[in-house]
Amino acid sequence: MTAPSSSGYIDTYYRRTLTSSEDYPRATGHIEADICIVGGGLAGLTAALKLARLGRSVVLLEENRIAWGASGRNGGFVAAGYATGLDSIARHVGQHQAHELYRLSMEGVEIMRTHIDMLGIREASPVSGIAKALRYHSGGALKASSEKQRRDFGMQLRYLKRDEVRALYNSPKYQEAVLDEDAFHFHPLNYARALAREAAKQGSSIYEQSAAVSAELDGARKRIRTKEAMIEAGQVLFATGGYTGRVVPALRRAFLPISTYVLLTEEAPDLVRDAIRTDAAILDDRRAGDYYRVVDEGRRILWGGRITTRVGDPRNIATLLQREMVTTYPQLEPLKVEVGWSGLMSYARHLMPQIGQLQPGVWYCTAFGGHGMNTTAIGGTIIAEGMAGESDRYRLFAPFGLSWNGGILGKAAAQLTYWAYQATDAIREFGQR
Ligand SMILES: Cc1cc2nc3c(=O)[nH]c(=O)nc-3n(C[C@H](O)[C@H](O)[C@H](O)COP(=O)(O)OP(=O)(O)OC[C@H]3O[C@@H](n4cnc5c(N)ncnc54)[C@H](O)[C@@H]3O)c2cc1C
Repeated sequence: MTAPSSSGYIDTYYRRTLTSSEDYPRATGHIEADICIVGGGLAGLTAALKLARLGRSVVLLEENRIAWGASGRNGGFVAAGYATGLDSIARHVGQHQAHELYRLSMEGVEIMRTHIDMLGIREASPVSGIAKALRYHSGGALKASSEKQRRDFGMQLRYLKRDEVRALYNSPKYQEAVLDEDAFHFHPLNYARALAREAAKQGSSIYEQSAAVSAELDGARKRIRTKEAMIEAGQVLFATGGYTGRVVPALRRAFLPISTYVLLTEEAPDLVRDAIRTDAAILDDRRAGDYYRVVDEGRRILWGGRITTRVGDPRNIATLLQREMVTTYPQLEPLKVEVGWSGLMSYARHLMPQIGQLQPGVWYCTAFGGHGMNTTAIGGTIIAEGMAGESDRYRLFAPFGLSWNGGILGKAAAQLTYWAYQATDAIREFGQR
């Protein structure tokens, strides 16, 4: 059974468990605002809410439905960090700025938690705890790095040795893990729709089924056209993630759309709880490794993994992921898959978000990769602060600009790199047998 307002969303666990019923109109006619935001994912919505709270009049255009893209169909993991590690960020910007960026990423988690608490978004169903697990022995490196993170950033991290991991996750694969007790997992579509509702309550005008099709960005007043409307605004923010089209060519050239996949199993509480004996979510540290959690109070599993550079859905997504699940938990062989889906993430070559100003009054906030929950929260917040002249924290991301994605060669390189990582992971895991 799906709720009446769920039409226009693809079939996912989140659509099936949507709680709210509001629809937003199409944009029509001539509309004036201080700020026009293009894209109704979590980056655009967080910015819209913040700008409305700062007293700006905001128009938000969404091509489909609110959080129709990655924001409404992801794994629901919310943790500090970025799509690339602290060491690689430090190589780019030095250790001091890398630490500042990492603290911002922690602030992103807190922004989300505060939204959920202050706005009473119970339907976001947050559950504490995400474990990062290894399929090989790190020889003390995992424990040491978690202790360093605890010292440097005050994070609540608990090291789990083999027996402790396997008591929670009944799989022969895992060798050790770190449980992040500051992280949580949740229902991203219900959360996103609650942000939209609050932004509208604070005066923002939200439009669905209203794709921006062209933009005139050079004058003092920017003009964004949809099929049925023309929006005139002093400033524009593009927050179109992995679904960015050709309206602003500089943005289209600067990212790679990467697909990733999720499945939802049938309801089978005994089987599920024999395998996963905790409500804490888990991800393994392999590149594009598995990430999964129990949902519906432990009756089902939501399992994500794999990346490809193909934009269309392969026919066998569910089979591929199910195979991964059964390799990890042989006891789940009989567990059937109820629905599988994919979504597009936006990756820059440097693997960091792209947050900044293209030209006076034209802003972008995108490329959050597979770590987009906390980072869209911080991205949306600091870009709104920048647009409102409240802070220039967005400049921390200046070293990670809109570099060219490499076109077709960039795609091929991304896929090859992923396969190479998969091979390295497999060899490392094989070494444990
Ligand atoms: C399957 C999957 C699992 C993931 N799991 C996790 C996870 O567990 N944890 C995590 O941190 N991250 C995860 N991610 C990544 C995260 O979901 C994204 O990084 C994040 O949601 C990106 O948000 P966004 O607002 O930038 O883009 P999106 O949410 O994709 O929103 C962009 C929106 O812009 C709209 N749009 C595009 N063009 C136009 C236009 N011309 N006019 C109007 N609107 C337009 C689109 O319709 C879309 O709704 C996952 C992603 C996927 C796909």
